[in-house]
Amino acid sequence: MSAGAFNPFQMAQSQFDRIADVLKLDAGTRELLRWPLREYHFLIPVRMDDGSHKVFRGFRCQHNDARGPCKGGIRFHPHETIDTVRALAMWMTWKCSTVDIPLGGGKGGVICDPHHLSAFEQQGICRGWVRQIARNVGPVQDVPAPDVMTNPQHMLWMLDEWEAIHGEKGPGFITGKPVGMGGSLGRTEATGYGVGYVVREALKILGIAPDKALAAIQGFGNVSQYAVKILNSFGTKVVCVSCWNQKDQTSYTFAKKDGIDVDALLSITDHFGSIDTEKAKAMGVQVLPGDKWIDQEVDILIPAALENQVTGENVQRISKRVKLIAEGANGPTTPEADSVLHERGVFCIPDVLANAGGVTCSYFEQVQCNTNYFWPKDEVLSKLDAKMTSAFKAVHDLSKKKNLYMRDACYQISVDRVARACRDRGWV
Ligand code: NAD
Repeated sequence: MSAGAFNPFQMAQSQFDRIADVLKLDAGTRELLRWPLREYHFLIPVRMDDGSHKVFRGFRCQHNDARGPCKGGIRFHPHETIDTVRALAMWMTWKCSTVDIPLGGGKGGVICDPHHLSAFEQQGICRGWVRQIARNVGPVQDVPAPDVMTNPQHMLWMLDEWEAIHGEKGPGFITGKPVGMGGSLGRTEATGYGVGYVVREALKILGIAPDKALAAIQGFGNVSQYAVKILNSFGTKVVCVSCWNQKDQTSYTFAKKDGIDVDALLSITDHFGSIDTEKAKAMGVQVLPGDKWIDQEVDILIPAALENQVTGENVQRISKRVKLIAEGANGPTTPEADSVLHERGVFCIPDVLANAGGVTCSYFEQVQCNTNYFWPKDEVLSKLDAKMTSAFKAVHDLSKKKNLYMRDACYQISVDRVARACRDRGWV
């Protein structure tokens, strides 16, 4: 990944500016939507296992809540920046609007590397994050969730702290909790399965039989693992996945021409989504450099790791065979690479649609928590499929009607809904 001067918030703003021009938004609405409504920066002091104290930096951005309480994950990452959090919060606003759920956009983060923190120290960060912001988050204000390197256990510690501070039960405060502790069945699968549902719909449009299609995926974390499983269930073979290797401080691609065996790979994958290279080789899986996922001879590419992965520098390496890109990650494609893909006629399912399954299921989790009645997994997944499929169809219908690139159609629908909510409330 080339970190370079890439600034995800500038990218998110430039994507927005383009659509603001198309929608002819007035100056006030533009200014309001180009920035987070509110953002919080704070310090989190944590007592470490060796008795010392370390101070971590935490953030929360609330981009827009005109359509409902803010919603968005909390990321633990050593390279977390406020601009990454701002970008992700803005994308959450468009994402909730794309799938038409009554929530706004938020995002949080902590600069830390859980690889080097004990469970006790991670608990300290979770509780400290909530202590700093407890008055500004909650079921009717702003609802956090997991993101990169955070998981259901982190969410439960955060819920416990929030409830202790407020002196009440409030399971709708946070989503992605463990099942049995307020979590929804299907939430773990939701984002990856959601990617699969929209890929299935796109393949119908492209006239490609799922069982004849090959896919390459970047990442092997939550999104990627379940994307592989659902694609396999449609008959689509995934010829490679990739992941970060903490020990070597580099990434690797794990490839198998006749399709990877997801369960076998999972048995040698740690909870950060890193696959053991030696054990993979012993299984007959080819271990290639990390960037090899992008130039595979496949029909479908799914970047599902981090932002800024398909860039002006590597977009030309994408095979002519690729007909479809589904953005499992947030912001994986830079505008420069995007215009090349658009010109080449690659069908793109943009991040705010492709990976919206997670927030959709988080919304279901909130609804279940608020009513204290939990649905069976089949019901969750069939509601998820229906929501993702209808959002995909709405975006595709507009793109056909107005001859628009899918990303533009998606943004036109979602930004317009949020702008209208701001106007209807009398904000602008
Ligand atoms: P995760 O932490 O579970 O997994 C991330 C994966 O990416 C891991 O396999 C890691 O090894 C790999 N990775 C990291 N850096 C890499 C690199 N340079 N090259 C190759 N692989 C690399 O995270 P996740 O939850 O699967 O999220 C992945 C992306 O999807 C992120 O952009 C996240 O914001 C987005 N997303 C996640 C959800 C969700 O519900 N989990 C929802 C919407 C969007």
